[in-house]
Amino acid sequence: MTKRLYDLDSHLSQHTATVLSCVPAKEGFDVVLDQTVLFPEGGGQPSDTGLIGEAMVLHVREEHGEIYHRIDRALPVGSELPVQLDWARRFDFMQQHTGEHLLSFSFYHLFSAANIGFHLALDYATIDFDKPLAHEQVVEAEHLANRYVWRNLPVTAAFYESEAEVARLPLRKHAEGLVPPIRIVSIQDADLCTCCAPHCALTGEIGSIFVSDAISYKGGTRITFHCGERALRRNRAVHDDMDMIARRFSTARDTAGNAVKKLSEDYGALKKQERDLTRSLNGYIARELSESALQAGKYRLIVRLFPDLDANRLKDLSQAAAQDKTLVLLLSSFNDKLSYVLATGEGFPLDVSELMPAVNAATGGKGGGRGTLAQGMAPGAGGAAETVQQLQHYLQQRLSGQK
Ligand SMILES: [Zn+2]
Repeated sequence: MTKRLYDLDSHLSQHTATVLSCVPAKEGFDVVLDQTVLFPEGGGQPSDTGLIGEAMVLHVREEHGEIYHRIDRALPVGSELPVQLDWARRFDFMQQHTGEHLLSFSFYHLFSAANIGFHLALDYATIDFDKPLAHEQVVEAEHLANRYVWRNLPVTAAFYESEAEVARLPLRKHAEGLVPPIRIVSIQDADLCTCCAPHCALTGEIGSIFVSDAISYKGGTRITFHCGERALRRNRAVHDDMDMIARRFSTARDTAGNAVKKLSEDYGALKKQERDLTRSLNGYIARELSESALQAGKYRLIVRLFPDLDANRLKDLSQAAAQDKTLVLLLSSFNDKLSYVLATGEGFPLDVSELMPAVNAATGGKGGGRGTLAQGMAPGAGGAAETVQQLQHYLQQRLSGQK
């Protein structure tokens, strides 16, 4: 069985190993070595990558107690080769993973919240806790976890030969179904739990722990966190964004939040003012439309094309202009589309659904409605003026024959 060098020294990054077997596999070859520094994925931590001789290690997995390295080319069985770990990737994982131990311990210690899920991705990491947690609790646990980082405490791993021995330990977490020897990871004065992955040797290597999000998840809480260089990169990006916002408002970073709040309030007031003005303007336009209505038999007809009115404005205007025995068809070219609304006033004998198919056919659009209001939209607004002429003619003819 392969000797797991990462169990003994998480900071070892190169060694030599003998190839015990090499068999073709999907997209590469599976190699077993007599010893390896490459950690197979497990305990929520992704697999290591690196080199065995000239071969690139794409993934490492454990199956039935054996460690298989998926490599990109065949290696001769029996050869002795250098093994090189991708140390930057591993150290990043160790920072996140050891930070996860400290966060889990802190939440458990302060609020009896148990870690029930851990996911470590290439650019973020999450922990799921089994209970709801308030923002203040998250901040308190984050602070406690960082205090353990600053104390630079040793992180050690030990093997126990039986479940009975392990059962006597005050573990925070005990994974089910482990086969002895059972690996216990300890952070001095803090965490103690079963774990198979490599960790930082001292908590100071974690650098810092930053919780960026906490959301309700399946009745508990999911936190997203960043340790070490990830925390630095994230805070640098947020800091630079804040600088950009502050410059935009010609203010300092610490007053940028208030500047954004004031802009949002001003915008809300302007929107309200715009709605009031639009309502008032709609009244004038509706009156003008009504005065220009064509007579079609016993009924009145208003057909008009507007530039740049959105569908809501068109609807408001149509309804305001639709008075007694009046049919209104308003169209507008907006964002390279043709919107249209068909509305009728009281005493008009036809349901809009009887007229809408002809409008859809003329515009090449789709739309529908019932009763006194129908709306539609056509792709492209080219040739709209001619279409409007045709529709006006058609509707006038149709209404002239209507009882
Ligand atoms: Zn661990």
